[in-house]
Amino acid sequence: MPELPEVETVLRGLNQLTRNQKITGGDVLLERAIAYPFSSFEFISGIKGNAIATWHRRGKYLLAELSSERDGGTGGQGDFLENNSSFSPFGFASRTPGATTEGTSATHWLLNALNPRTALDSPSPPLPLSPSPISFLGVHLRMTGQLLWVHRDEPLHKHTRVRLFFGSEQELRFVDQRTFGKMWWVPPGVAVESIITGLQKLAIEPFSLEFTVEYLISKLQNRRRPIKTALLDQSVVAGLGNIYADEALFLSGIRPETLCIDLKTEQIERLRSHIIQVLETSIAAGGTTFSNFLNIKGVNGNYGGVAWVYNRAGEPCRICGTAIERIRLGGRSSHFCIQCQR
Ligand SMILES: [Zn+2]
Repeated sequence: MPELPEVETVLRGLNQLTRNQKITGGDVLLERAIAYPFSSFEFISGIKGNAIATWHRRGKYLLAELSSERDGGTGGQGDFLENNSSFSPFGFASRTPGATTEGTSATHWLLNALNPRTALDSPSPPLPLSPSPISFLGVHLRMTGQLLWVHRDEPLHKHTRVRLFFGSEQELRFVDQRTFGKMWWVPPGVAVESIITGLQKLAIEPFSLEFTVEYLISKLQNRRRPIKTALLDQSVVAGLGNIYADEALFLSGIRPETLCIDLKTEQIERLRSHIIQVLETSIAAGGTTFSNFLNIKGVNGNYGGVAWVYNRAGEPCRICGTAIERIRLGGRSSHFCIQCQR
C-alpha cells in the first residue's frame, strides 16, 4: 500500500509533469472508480476543458486544483494559482529526458522526474477546504492504485480504470488492480471535504508547522496504549504507516510497546524529529516502498533495502549487532532492537 512518502512522490511528479496542461477528455473503464459525481459522464463533463493548476496532498489524498480557463494557459484565476506560480523551478512540465515521450514507463517518471533536493525545498501549498470558485479533481490510490503519465500510444494495462486525455498526446492513467482506488470531481462552489468526506477525519500533517512537540505531547500524554499503536492512529498524525513508525522508534531509541504515559518529554522531542526525518529520507529516495509496491507482492517494501529494523527480524542490528526482534502490537508487526531501544 502506498504510504505518505509514496503519495508525496506521486504528487511531486504530477506537479512537474501535468501543471498547466488542459484535460481534453477522458474515458472511464470502471464505473465504480468514480466516487463522485455518480455518473462517469458527469465526471468527464466536469473536468473536461479544465487545465491542471496545481496538485495538493492531504494525508494520502491527491487533489488537483482545476483552472477553468478553457485554453489552459498560465492559470491566474484567483489567489491559489498566483501564490503557486513560482512552485516549479523547472518551469512548465519539466521536460525530464525520457520522462514524457517514447512510451517511457511510469516507474521511470516517478523515480527519475524529481530532483529530491528541490522537491524538499518546495512543499505543496495548503489545500483550501472552504467552498471556492475552483473545482477539484481528487484521487485516492488505496491499496494498489497507480497514476501513470504516459504517451497515448502506450498499450493499455489490463487494470486501467480511468484515462484522462491531455494535449500533446499524453494521458494520465489510473491503474488499479484491486479496484479500491477512487476519483472525485468537486464542482466549483462546493467545499472539498463535503464531497471527499474522508478529509474530515485527518489529523495534522507531519511536515506542517502545527506538528510541534507540544502537539505530540498533548496527543500522547496520559494515554495507556503502546506508542507504536498511537503512531499508526491516523488521528494523531496523518499518513504514518508501519515502516516509518518502526524506523522512527528505532532512531529515537524507544521500544514500540512503551506506553505513551511513560514517555519523557525528551523522548517525544526525539520522536517528533525522527518521524520527519524518516519520511523526508524516503521522499528524497523517490518514495522507496512504492518501487517495491509495483512488484505486486502484497506487502510494503523494506524502505529501499536500508531499513534499520523494519522487516529485519533475526538479522543483526546495524548499530550493535543484536538480532532484531519482532512482536505483534495491535494486529501489526513491530520490529525493534532490545539493546538500542529501551
Ligand atoms: Zn541495536
